[in-house]
Amino acid sequence: MAFVVGLTGGIGSGKSAASAWFESQGIAVVDADVVAREIVQKGQPALTQIQQAFGGWVLLENGELNRRALREHIFKAPEARKVLEQITHPAIRSSIIWQLQQAASPYALLASPLLFETNQHELAQRSLLIDASEELQIQRASQRDGQNAEQIKKIIAAQMPRAQKQQRADDIVLNDGHLDHLYLHLQPLHEKYLALAKKQLP
Ligand code: ADP
Repeated sequence: MAFVVGLTGGIGSGKSAASAWFESQGIAVVDADVVAREIVQKGQPALTQIQQAFGGWVLLENGELNRRALREHIFKAPEARKVLEQITHPAIRSSIIWQLQQAASPYALLASPLLFETNQHELAQRSLLIDASEELQIQRASQRDGQNAEQIKKIIAAQMPRAQKQQRADDIVLNDGHLDHLYLHLQPLHEKYLALAKKQLP
């Protein structure tokens, strides 16, 4: 498997902006959020398992996952979240591993908002945190998603605290300026990862 860099950051920190930049440099990006949606698509074994665990109501008439009904169920019955995660987490992990193995770039990026929370950092040799103040996170995420500050604050509160992520990450980029400023800080890291990936080659 290629050298893997795990990219993380809280909501609105600029993870997607950073991963798009790496992609523009020819780096293969596996996005854990995308994988999480793929593994519950119609016809996927995880969807069948969810149906078996919860009942037919989790499916829409067209056979797709009724995300809204499942989300509401989990909200009311917190132990159901564990059952769901026991199905989805291993499926997400295997799919991530498979996709990382297909990466044809000098190193690969695993972008995941929950890199540390879900132990996906174990799949990476190095981790990079895109960091921003809570104020900036709220401002950017509410502009992007049209959600109010309270909703964003709730999401931030459910994620690993910023200080803890700062402690765990190997590299940190503070995204508190313009996007060009972000890219300027990513460039030397990209070069470092290229060098580290080269070193890892047999
Ligand atoms: P995340 O993926 O971490 O939730 P995004 O990369 O989607 O965050 O960034 C949130 C929003 O803020 C997006 O609309 C993005 O274009 C914008 N953004 C990110 N970084 C900057 C920045 N340095 N300057 C201005 N806008 C930014």
